[in-house]
Amino acid sequence: MSRQLIKFATYLVLFVLGLGLTHTLTQEQLLEQNQERTARHATALNDYIHSEFTRFSTIVSFLSSSALVHQALQYDQQDNAVDRYLSDVQRASGASDVYLLNAQGTVVASSNWHLPHSYKGNNFAFRPYFARAMAGETVTDFALGQRSMRRGFYFSKAVDFAENGRGVIVLKVNASKFETDKARLDTGEESHFVLLDANDVVLLSDHPDWQLHATKALSGEAQEQLAQSQQFLGQTINPLGWHWLANDGQIIAEQRRYLVSASTLEGTSYRLLMLSPIVPFNEVHAARLGLAMLLLLLVIALVEYLSVKVAGYRQLLFSQRTLEEQVQERTRELEQAQDALIRATKLATIGQLSASVNHEINQPLSAMSAYVAACKRLLMRSEPEKAMENLQLIEQLIRRVHAIAGQLKSFSQKRPVKMQSISLQQSVQNALLVVGPELNKHHVSVHESGLEVSVWVDPYQFEQVLVNLLSNACHAMEHCQNKWLRLEASSNESKVYLSIIDNGPGIDQHALSTIFEPFYTTKSEHGLGLGLSISKQIIESFQGNLSAHNHRDGGAEFLLSLHQQEPQS
Ligand code: ADP
Repeated sequence: MSRQLIKFATYLVLFVLGLGLTHTLTQEQLLEQNQERTARHATALNDYIHSEFTRFSTIVSFLSSSALVHQALQYDQQDNAVDRYLSDVQRASGASDVYLLNAQGTVVASSNWHLPHSYKGNNFAFRPYFARAMAGETVTDFALGQRSMRRGFYFSKAVDFAENGRGVIVLKVNASKFETDKARLDTGEESHFVLLDANDVVLLSDHPDWQLHATKALSGEAQEQLAQSQQFLGQTINPLGWHWLANDGQIIAEQRRYLVSASTLEGTSYRLLMLSPIVPFNEVHAARLGLAMLLLLLVIALVEYLSVKVAGYRQLLFSQRTLEEQVQERTRELEQAQDALIRATKLATIGQLSASVNHEINQPLSAMSAYVAACKRLLMRSEPEKAMENLQLIEQLIRRVHAIAGQLKSFSQKRPVKMQSISLQQSVQNALLVVGPELNKHHVSVHESGLEVSVWVDPYQFEQVLVNLLSNACHAMEHCQNKWLRLEASSNESKVYLSIIDNGPGIDQHALSTIFEPFYTTKSEHGLGLGLSISKQIIESFQGNLSAHNHRDGGAEFLLSLHQQEPQS
């Protein structure tokens, strides 16, 4: 697999993982918020229903001790005074009906006395709220209205009057009052609530389809008990088939998943469930996923940008190192080439001078042969003193040949550079040993002046420069009649200026600027055109200077400026 493909796959996996993580975290956070909100709404609704139940129970308690109500049980009513009173209470309290039953369960006064469906005269002794109140209980009960078939809560309490006299006051509230009030509690459009009795029958719910259904199938015993109490007037209570999810407070109702917050309604056996739908994906999810997508893309782009930068930087470092190595390598090669050139120039100079050198060595050798022959003769004639004189002459000649050969050898050898302050005179003498035979051959007279100073040079390289300049001068004067060379030195505190002047034809005006360029030569044979260029480099390496001019008397003048001692830089 190519690197690009692996990188793309990695980014893709990271991208998908990032989105997955964002989705999961958002879901968890939203679930937590939903749980909190549901619990808050459940508490608010529970508080509301409880306070309403308490309020209605309090009204019933208050009515049970009302003198007017007592009178209605004791005597026949005058002008429906108690009916009117109960009617006032009904309107003021928000109840649907308020009525008074005598000990037989017959309605003796009712808030709806003036309506066609007035309860007056009806008997409700079969209702559990009557029997239980007669037994002394303060009752909150749920039942269906006999005629209206409406669901309602019944609050009842015994009314004790005179001696041993007892009746029951009842306040009925339509269930829909709580259901519509719930809408005012602002628990969210999507959420629902149910109020369940002990058998899990839905007494109240803002979801009409759930009302008077059981959240689970009723047991046989419960069905029997309901049939007896006529609480639901024989109406069948069908199960809703809710499915509770284990341990996490969630149910699935009508194929929808709800978060449930359950609480018991204080003072009753009722349970209140607040159901809030769990939405797997909503606009918060979408927004967060969008943001995460953007961030991930940004991060990937940043990583990509940085990796390209780093790769570029590494490549740069690598090429820089390679370049440095190459430069070092080339410098080494150049130095070697330079050394080789210097040597080649030296050898070329020797080549140019070889004929004269040969002559210079052959001359003493021929002289020596003559002296040896003379020596033999003198010894044969037993004239040892004269022979000794000849031998001394031979000795001198041998020394001279040695000196020339030694100088040639040291001139051509490669030596390490060693700067020192040496006598200018001595350097000139050494150079003349090499170039002298050539000068002699061409009958060049050499004049020296002011050479008794010291110069700060490498002796062998400096000698090479002098040999070059002297031999060039000699060549330049080849066709002149009267050949002479002047070596004139002058000095100040720190510097020495040496002029080498010849009386040759001088340097062509146009060549003055190119004469020090490598390979500039006017010599058709033996010329390499390197002597002056190398000489200039050598003098500059001594922190000195070499320049060429034409002397006012004709001829060329080469001017060297040198330090006497090591410069203080
Ligand atoms: P080469 O001697 O091999 O030609 P150089 O660099 O030593 O190389 O000299 C370059 C050229 O400078 C010579 O060919 C010659 O034309 C000129 N030149 C050098 N010295 C003199 C001089 N003293 N007088 C006139 N021309 C000279």
